[in-house]
Amino acid sequence: MLGVKKNNLNNFLEKISSGYQLFVPAEVEGTTRFTAYQAGVQLALERNTVVPPKELFFPQTEHMYCYKAHKQEAAVEEIAAACEPRVLFGARPCDVQSLAVLDDVFLTKGYEDLFYKNKRENTLVIALGCRKPEPTCFCSSLGVDPSGTELADVMAWDAGEALVFEAKSDKGKKFLEENSAQLEDLAGVTQPTAECTMVLQVEGLTAKLQKMFEHSLWNEICKKCLNCGTCTYLCPTCHCFDIQGKTRGESGVKFRCWDSCMYQEYTLMAGGHNPRPSKKERVRQRFLHKLQYIPERYGKWGCVGCGRCVVKCPVNVDITRIIKQIGEVSLDA
Ligand code: SF4
Ligand code: SF4
Repeated sequence: MLGVKKNNLNNFLEKISSGYQLFVPAEVEGTTRFTAYQAGVQLALERNTVVPPKELFFPQTEHMYCYKAHKQEAAVEEIAAACEPRVLFGARPCDVQSLAVLDDVFLTKGYEDLFYKNKRENTLVIALGCRKPEPTCFCSSLGVDPSGTELADVMAWDAGEALVFEAKSDKGKKFLEENSAQLEDLAGVTQPTAECTMVLQVEGLTAKLQKMFEHSLWNEICKKCLNCGTCTYLCPTCHCFDIQGKTRGESGVKFRCWDSCMYQEYTLMAGGHNPRPSKKERVRQRFLHKLQYIPERYGKWGCVGCGRCVVKCPVNVDITRIIKQIGEVSLDA
């Protein structure tokens, strides 16, 4: 099996970064996230990043276009520039699955988001299988195999002393061929397997939620939520955004920035009406979106079981506990 010894990994990454814009999981300013590779970067390969790779495809703030206006004349300059060839190295199977969710949202149902599409099409994804999922991981309950994914271009496994690679797409095969001089034949190395320790029952969950819009469980679940939005910002599949503009003199720029269904202003209308006026509606929206609306529309879960919201919610609103609570509801009562 082809691979690279860990003590040679930086040379391998250095070589890739000479031909591509390379993003790697790393320690950055007190957290872990995907960042552009450079010499001396502190790789974070032991566990999944705190910040998911979605910001590489759907940045937190993104210019959409500039404009100039003078009296009755206006000119618009498109900014959705072509993206340089990129490599995303080390995305975990749950985060690769989250890209499949974002693909559905941004590229299907008769609509293509060019900002997302440019980045997605020009990025080769090298997934890294998990060796030991965290206690808060539950991706396997949602159809994701933590040890590997077929949705990446290249699959990498941590086999102790070395990372081993396998192409999963034509693009991935070409990439490994191009970089074969950097790879060694690591005879005798086997692909490690991994399993989540947390197992959730999700069969029939969407159908059950279809009957629970008015259920009193939402009153209970929403009580401690602060509507801080942390869960949505760190979620690899959350994709809501707002569009705003800045004007200076006769020039201006329109940009989009992440928004969150947990914020009161998110659904506030110009006339003052708010269809989600309380925490109950906002918290319900978040869980129905992940577990009912996205499965209904795209045939896959809107949660990939990464556990980030479970770990980072300041008041322990825990989606795994909520899935269990939904499972315990008796609709006949
Ligand atoms: S992180 Fe927790 S407190 Fe903050 S909005 Fe999400 S569920 Fe509510
Ligand atoms: S809802 Fe929570 S566990 Fe599910 S994908 Fe989003 S951050 Fe991860």
